[in-house]
Amino acid sequence: MTQTDVRSETIAKRRIKFIHKLHKIPQLSEDERERLADVAARYAFRVNDYYLGLINWDDPNDPIRRLVIPHEREKQNWGALDASNESSVTVVPNAQHKYASTVLLLVTEVCAAYCRYCFRKRLFMNDNDEATHNLANIAHALKYIKEHPEVNNVLLTGGDPTTLMTDQIEIVLKALRTIPHVRIIRFGTKTPAFNPYRFINDPKLMQLLKKYSLPDKRIYFMCHFDHPNELTDVAREGLRLIQEAGVICVNQNPIIRGISDDPRVMSKLWNELSYVGVPQYYVFQGRPTAGNEPYEVPIVEAYFDIEQAKKKCSGAAKRLKYCMSHESGKIEIVAVDHQHIYLKYHRAKYPKDEQRFIVCERDDDAFWLDQLKPVAGYENKYYREESSGSPREVMFG
Ligand code: SF4
Repeated sequence: MTQTDVRSETIAKRRIKFIHKLHKIPQLSEDERERLADVAARYAFRVNDYYLGLINWDDPNDPIRRLVIPHEREKQNWGALDASNESSVTVVPNAQHKYASTVLLLVTEVCAAYCRYCFRKRLFMNDNDEATHNLANIAHALKYIKEHPEVNNVLLTGGDPTTLMTDQIEIVLKALRTIPHVRIIRFGTKTPAFNPYRFINDPKLMQLLKKYSLPDKRIYFMCHFDHPNELTDVAREGLRLIQEAGVICVNQNPIIRGISDDPRVMSKLWNELSYVGVPQYYVFQGRPTAGNEPYEVPIVEAYFDIEQAKKKCSGAAKRLKYCMSHESGKIEIVAVDHQHIYLKYHRAKYPKDEQRFIVCERDDDAFWLDQLKPVAGYENKYYREESSGSPREVMFG
């Protein structure tokens, strides 16, 4: 008997039930279900019985509950549906191309559950067709990638690509592996946290990952764990199987009020992830997305929480960058002092911004770049030249 057989016996396969209606959750009171019904109708609600089982229902502030159960303040008029203007980099249906080497392929509009703070919640609305629900629709996107030799990595996203059926995942992987310049295929996925049984139940998927994650052309899983309570034995087993298939795993997550805005929670998460070989890669500033007012943390507060958390981490656990996925690029929040916030482009939409450094006046109430005032000489001018309108007015009124 191999080591894998021993582990699989300890954690048996399990059928997962998906829940789309609040009234199917008996732990919520009648009053809560009524009060939250219109929030769940506005922004998609879906959860599963494994993930619900992680909630301590005696604690009204339980972080897992906060992550998936709607909150009344989501109705506040705050933020924009497409806060980073992703639609402006949609080059053909289902494909975004913002940074030269990377294309995002939106292969589905489904996730194993829906995070309340999702920055792509517009995709789950009925009148949105930015992500496909029919794989035949990705033909144009594949052609586009084939014609762009500068693209060395493709991020499968949506939605969550691992919610596709295994045969559908194979169609995508097989097609991408016929394009020689695509060396890395990435899966942006929260399924290892939301539903690790996806990997435990499906040895065929694991064989598929093994077949297409090659020594010089790896598959990466950009995992999305938000809180140490998600790192159950089942989740650890899911990660072990993914890694055993030759997939490189890293973790990224936004800083979210009431879930991950506590230095003790962050350091515990990053340390535990480092023990299982899933280093933290990015911590994101929450995008000012519509419906997300109750989940947002100002930049300065988040910066100091992260710095505090780093003090309790080994080098292996704190390789992360704290970044803002802004319309103009991925911007690292490098430092904050009593007067200034120091930022640097980590990836840039416009070549002139590559690695550019910006110094802004410190503003403890700001959530996003558009609210910050650069000091003289550091204006974000390339972005301003290319954009129209005032993002600040669009997002914050
Ligand atoms: S897993 Fe990602 S895409 Fe899916 S609901 Fe959560 S944040 Fe949105």
